[in-house]
Amino acid sequence: MSVKLSKTSKLDGILSWSLQARDTCPASIENGELVDACKGCYAVGGNYRFPNVKAPREFNREDWQRLEWVDDMTKALDSSRYFRWFDSGDMYALGLAEKILEVMKRTPWVKHWLPTRMHKFPKYRLVLESMKSLNNVSVRFSSDSVTGQYIDGLHGSVIIPTPNDVKTNMTLCQAYANNGKCNGCRSCYDKSIPLIAYPAHGKAMNKVIMLKKVA
Ligand code: SF4
Repeated sequence: MSVKLSKTSKLDGILSWSLQARDTCPASIENGELVDACKGCYAVGGNYRFPNVKAPREFNREDWQRLEWVDDMTKALDSSRYFRWFDSGDMYALGLAEKILEVMKRTPWVKHWLPTRMHKFPKYRLVLESMKSLNNVSVRFSSDSVTGQYIDGLHGSVIIPTPNDVKTNMTLCQAYANNGKCNGCRSCYDKSIPLIAYPAHGKAMNKVIMLKKVA
């Protein structure tokens, strides 16, 4: 059986493996409500509501549990130089995280970018540390803030309201200036870059930021 990967134009055609957002994002909830960054999530609206976009994400939730999944993923990345984990969703199960680590180890020719919030759960500490120790892996712990707050040395990405809100120690994502596309940038996959700042985009996210400002 073959694995189902997605190809999004934003990422210059780089392949990704994803799950359904929110259903697989236990770290998106704190004190019974969504954290700010997840309130405006792009992966629950727009194209992401279409059945043909949802179907592979639902499929993947079952598929990773197959015995051959790590072998199949490794084969699928045979000719890739870059790979994005979780264009939507997160590593909701420790067993999944352990299998992803195995895929990363078996594909040293691929630069993996893995954004996650699962660092909030202590049981993930070991597997995340193992991922971070690999030269070909950029694990980015996402801040929950939409106004540029982050913890130095912990978070690898944060949302800022506008490009003008970038601070000196942040690397500004330039996709906003390139029709929302990476356009050759590979900063997220580069583990030597500690913190990426993403300017907010989309109506839902801008509404979350407006509400923060008036609160
Ligand atoms: S920082 Fe670069 S690689 Fe990351 S999303 Fe933005 S444009 Fe793409």
